[in-house]
Amino acid sequence: MLRPRLIPPVDIFPPNPWAIEAVRYDGRMARELTGQAETMFALSNGYLGMRGVTEEGSPVREAGTYLNGFYENRPISYGERAYGFPKVGQSILNCPDGAVMKLFVDDEPLILPDAEILSYRRILDFRGGTLNRDVRWVTPSGKRLHLRTTRLVSLAHRHLAAIAYELTAENAAAEVVITSELRNDQPLATDTSDPRMAEGFVGRVLQPTGTRSEALRAILSYRTGSSGLVLGCGMDHVVEADCALAAQAGCDNDLATVVFRGVLAPGRTSRIHKYLSYHYARGADPAEIRSQVAWTLDRAVESGFPAILARQGQETARFWERADVTVDSVNPRSQQVIRWNLFQLMQASERAEGHGIAARGLTGRTYEGHYFWDTEIYVLPFLIYTNPPMARSLLKVRYDMLDSARARARELGQRGATFPWRTINGEEASAYYAAGTAQYHINADIAYALRKYVEVSGDVDFLCRYGAEILVETARLWCDLGFFSDRMDGRFCIHGVTGPDEYTAIVNNNCFTNLMARENMRYAAETVRMLKRDHPDSFDALVHRTHLDADEPEAWDQAAERMYLPYDERLKVHPQDDAFLDLEKWDFAATPEDHYPLLLHYHPLNLYRSQVIKQADTVLALFLLSEQFTLEAKRRNFAYYDPLTTHDSSLSVCIQSIVANEIGLRDKAIHYFNFAVAMDISDLGGNMMHGAHIAAMGGTWLAMIYGFAGMRDAHGRLTFNPCLPEAWTRLGFCLQVRGQTIRIEITHSTATYGLVAGAGLTLWHGEDCVRLSEATPSVTKPVGGAAGGADASAP
Ligand code: BGC
Repeated sequence: MLRPRLIPPVDIFPPNPWAIEAVRYDGRMARELTGQAETMFALSNGYLGMRGVTEEGSPVREAGTYLNGFYENRPISYGERAYGFPKVGQSILNCPDGAVMKLFVDDEPLILPDAEILSYRRILDFRGGTLNRDVRWVTPSGKRLHLRTTRLVSLAHRHLAAIAYELTAENAAAEVVITSELRNDQPLATDTSDPRMAEGFVGRVLQPTGTRSEALRAILSYRTGSSGLVLGCGMDHVVEADCALAAQAGCDNDLATVVFRGVLAPGRTSRIHKYLSYHYARGADPAEIRSQVAWTLDRAVESGFPAILARQGQETARFWERADVTVDSVNPRSQQVIRWNLFQLMQASERAEGHGIAARGLTGRTYEGHYFWDTEIYVLPFLIYTNPPMARSLLKVRYDMLDSARARARELGQRGATFPWRTINGEEASAYYAAGTAQYHINADIAYALRKYVEVSGDVDFLCRYGAEILVETARLWCDLGFFSDRMDGRFCIHGVTGPDEYTAIVNNNCFTNLMARENMRYAAETVRMLKRDHPDSFDALVHRTHLDADEPEAWDQAAERMYLPYDERLKVHPQDDAFLDLEKWDFAATPEDHYPLLLHYHPLNLYRSQVIKQADTVLALFLLSEQFTLEAKRRNFAYYDPLTTHDSSLSVCIQSIVANEIGLRDKAIHYFNFAVAMDISDLGGNMMHGAHIAAMGGTWLAMIYGFAGMRDAHGRLTFNPCLPEAWTRLGFCLQVRGQTIRIEITHSTATYGLVAGAGLTLWHGEDCVRLSEATPSVTKPVGGAAGGADASAP
């Protein structure tokens, strides 16, 4: 089960509400936690991501520069094949790394763990959107150097990253050499002990297609062998120095360097601004891609670093204005850790337009850079309420996958569309069908997120142009996949699926799946009727595109109406599936603590034949379809499933917290929230070094907004039932609803609903209707008691 593996020591990482800050250098820690620090200090804008490797390039665990959707195909090899197994998977690629700027003084390299450091600060600045470092170093011969770096991955220009590198000789003249690199190193390492890790490639992946270099600029370009993507990347430099720095540039297919040399007089500073640009496109002419890189570099050089930095601050400020969640807490770390989560969500999504969001964002290669249901169920709610255009873009990305999903359904012998369980390009990339393709629920998850987006944003245009088609094809799938079972009194059953809990596979009537499929079919039928009535042109286009038969919506309604939901009269709970309650309960008492996550220590068959749960499954349905369960049903189901749940997936505790909150188990809600919010900061899964868990970040937002603020939003009705943890004295956040912005401020005694922008909105505080308008822009309501349990154990 979950246990913190990393407690950031306060003397090194002091609480700071606006930054992750290391104020002291500890060589031992730096070596032991290199990978964790690379994730913690990673920068990304949703298109381009760079792990937080230091400029010196060492020590290094897993250097990584990633572009969203830049992948290579990889044959999937099976010991035994069967029909319909995907033959080719996709894997996100590591692009040439441009962060490295090595420093030598009098021929001595700066290698931090071995160096004598006078002072040190490394700051991931949430407000500036930058990674800053300030190091004072004494060379072996006693020269003091002051090095300051500022690194950013631009939110304004998504193809651009920049580094300001500033070096001052403090007490003596120093002969300095700075080598700035852009290096194509394809790591081949594969850690076969953890199936979640990305598999490496054997041999060269990026085929060189030419270079271009002039003065302090170098551009490299490559083509992938099979996916047909062409990459261009380049660096340029602008130097301001109090001394003459000689520069020498070199460039071959895999390494471009610019070496700066000079003597810095005492008190003098040299300043190098390094710009990095990355572009890629399918089937492009490499020369053209190199030109695009050059244009981005031209633009950056013209703007200059200060302007790029200022713009970064403005973009970040805009994000916080929309998406900040403020908490006053007795625990000085609370705000910091919450903002770390939100910052990661921004980094994963802000400039992801046209792409999906990978399970680890752009902070690591785990799960091969694939997009899962994580996006729709865990991240989209946050974006729907704080960045609706990005939510729209992500749903459009699913729409763009529809043809592949149709083809996959045909391959599987199904009507409609089957979205891939994991993918980059729309093709199924999951090799293990029991925990992959069988998770048909992803189709309903997409439909669920689509509905939420349309209801909250009011964007019916999206529904007409794209959404309805997704709904028709997914409803068709369900209608075809299930059947009216004579043995079940003519109820509609769905067999041979896997629900969210991957420790139970290929089951009949997974309750979560059946519930979500029912919603999917109902919404599809409703939407088709609405289009026919209100948008006849869109309806005609839909019929034309999908060959929709007039009887189909009726068939979906019937299947939904007759949907079978497993229910156990004796326990009065919904069995997770038809057979779940027949299984033997897992022997938790006999499971050593170091055998979690179980997936790394037990054959799947051991797990499949036991009542043991990887992550919220039925409990997730209690939250997503909250309005369909009584409080009593929620209590009983939670009580049954909670003790069986290992939380071996980072997608679990946040959901458990929300439901615990609703049923009044406040201590448990806080306990689970503390785990959700600390998932990466405390490295609860022990794998933070391989990248941040983006769904857990989204889940943290869910747990605050749907948990402590008690928001529910079924079918457009926005209700709040707030109850703060005792340790929090205030919780504040903004939401965008149908083009308007509201601000909610909750204390232990009041909830204040304010209209920040827009003409007016109706919401509910418990059963009380609150009407916000220009005349009444703010309403305060009394709140009941506080939840027990201080969050003293919070990170
Ligand atoms: C979880 C899935 C999730 C995937 C990617 C797995 O461990 O079981 O639900 O989609 O990780 O985050």
